[in-house]
Amino acid sequence: MPYKLLIFTCYGGCAMGVAASKACIRLWEENVGEVKIGCLPAVIVPWKLNEIKKSEKRILIDACGVQCGKKLIEREGMPVDRYIELTSELGVRKAKQLPSKALEEQVYRVIQKEVGALLGGNLLEEEKKEAV
Ligand code: SF4
Repeated sequence: MPYKLLIFTCYGGCAMGVAASKACIRLWEENVGEVKIGCLPAVIVPWKLNEIKKSEKRILIDACGVQCGKKLIEREGMPVDRYIELTSELGVRKAKQLPSKALEEQVYRVIQKEVGALLGGNLLEEEKKEAV
């Protein structure tokens, strides 16, 4: 069965990259059945790319302006419904260190908002909890 939404991130070794990785895992945990992390390096394998393209929607998150993920998907021909480059989106410089809890939460909120929009405005589990 095709996935509803695949989330791809660059898994960069910097504050933003680690925060994005943790946010993607959290969103998967909170939305099992609707959201799944996709394997970004696997886009270079033709049969994996074909499998990935069968998902209903795809979002890609790059942690910094080097845009490794974007370059990879453009080279391999993987379309995405939404692209975020976090340092530009949040207006912060790349930091080669682990993220603060505040940054982790900020990054989670940015990605959560986009994931929610791509799922057609469905309330995500976290929002459902906050609403009760
Ligand atoms: S986009 Fe930036 S953080 Fe992500 S893998 Fe490339 S250099 Fe690292």
